[in-house]
Amino acid sequence: MLQELKHLLFDVYSKSIGYFVNPQKRIYWIYILTSIALATFVFFRHSRKKDPNKGLISFLFPKENLFSKTAFVDYAFLVFNAFIKLFIIATFSYAAKKYHYDITEWLLHNFGLPSKTYSIGILTTFYLITLLITGDFSYYILHLLYHKIPFLWAFHKVHHSSTALNPVTQYRIHPVELIINNLRALIVLTLVNAAFDYVNRGYFSPQTYFGVNIILITFNSWGANLRHSHIKLTYFNWLENWIISPFQHQIHHSSQKELYDKNLGSKLAIWDRIFGTLVKSKDVEELKVGLGEKDKHYKSFFQNIINPFKSLFNSNY
Ligand SMILES: [Zn+2]
Ligand SMILES: [Zn+2]
Repeated sequence: MLQELKHLLFDVYSKSIGYFVNPQKRIYWIYILTSIALATFVFFRHSRKKDPNKGLISFLFPKENLFSKTAFVDYAFLVFNAFIKLFIIATFSYAAKKYHYDITEWLLHNFGLPSKTYSIGILTTFYLITLLITGDFSYYILHLLYHKIPFLWAFHKVHHSSTALNPVTQYRIHPVELIINNLRALIVLTLVNAAFDYVNRGYFSPQTYFGVNIILITFNSWGANLRHSHIKLTYFNWLENWIISPFQHQIHHSSQKELYDKNLGSKLAIWDRIFGTLVKSKDVEELKVGLGEKDKHYKSFFQNIINPFKSLFNSNY
């Protein structure tokens, strides 16, 4: 009994607070440090000129973003969702394995053994690029649906109800959305893994390739944590046509409808460009994040869990 409880606590820890020491996660402490370095750059480059009285420490770590009620709702979601993940990941990873083998078998059966073999370098490169494009595109489409379909918006609203962003806001996600998001990731990963397993004649092990996910490491080290923060880190105007900058994601958190339906992409900006939802940093001066009028219904953790269901029947929420 005691042993089981220990296992449970460890599992919950490794799926929440443990993210700070997990290089696969965005809030890994090294990525936090690189984000602080970039934020310091923003302080000396721009912010100090605007407000010469503000010190570096109070600029980097404002109370409102890190120690206010809205921030503690984020922290509560990080831990609470670990329990949900325990349940989904066990079920989903079993399904993923099963479907992965079924699809690879089906490909082998219908198309025979692939005639060519590829080097590990070529396979890894193509695998990471394929994952980036399919993962990012499916994320965009799902995110667009969250904003356009009232039933989905009811739950996605929770991510937008933060009134002062911090890196943990990334995990402020209603359990209903968390399950849908994991389902999307599972489908994409299973299809891509099965296809690469087939190309590699059944000897493909995604773990080997994932460990060196250069794309993810680069993305995370270049201030991915600042996407959910008050630090206005923008990219070159031309680069924002290709990659979503931290400030472009902050624009997505705006309380103004014409802005929160924009910049729906995760890493790449090309989908927003194709579907006409891209807004560049230079076009937005002042920003207020949150749900505006509806903020008052999404202040506590409990309200964020329950009120999405209420909002299905009552538009005041
Ligand atoms: Zn959104
Ligand atoms: Zn966000």
